[in-house]
Amino acid sequence: MSPLLHHLSSERLLDFVDGRLTPAEQSSVEAHLASCAACSSQAAAFKRVITVMRSDATQDAPEHMVNRAIRLFRTRHPRTAEPSLRRRVVAALRLDSAQQRLAFGMRAAPQAARELLFDIDDESELEVRIEPAEGGWRVAGQVLGACTGGQVLLEGSAGQAATELNAQCEFSLPPQPGAIYKLLLRLEDVDVEVPILELRA
Ligand SMILES: [Zn+2]
Repeated sequence: MSPLLHHLSSERLLDFVDGRLTPAEQSSVEAHLASCAACSSQAAAFKRVITVMRSDATQDAPEHMVNRAIRLFRTRHPRTAEPSLRRRVVAALRLDSAQQRLAFGMRAAPQAARELLFDIDDESELEVRIEPAEGGWRVAGQVLGACTGGQVLLEGSAGQAATELNAQCEFSLPPQPGAIYKLLLRLEDVDVEVPILELRA
């Protein structure tokens, strides 16, 4: 079976970049990366995010510092209780400005930003804005409610991008070509997935 037919999942790549795999798993990922440009460029993007997170000395909010230290501690103690504590949820779409325009018979203004609102759980929501930029689409947004930082990953057949939430839990990804993507949020104790995010007006 060709390794190219089975790309590595984001979770696998993140665990690899974060040093959380067993030596055997590590070797198998390394073998795949050696022969797969797509997965190795994604691994490189994850590595940049994690490097930024670890080297960011500009945080001044004490609470944020504590949470960051907890994350680093977990990273250094990979095979403890952390995996079982993490939750995985699929964000539920609550509002889509494009659908609202259709429902009310309004025509979409050309080049208008599209806004989506997702429920993560009882305590938090995800706001996503999709707006045209540089011939593609910029995806930006914010986690509202319980949020202490994390990473955002956008991946699709046309490309991928990753960034870190700022102190206000906002993010803005570099513009991507119009296509269907998956959006992943890796928050303190939960992985949130938006399985289908179509970049269009
Ligand atoms: Zn691959």
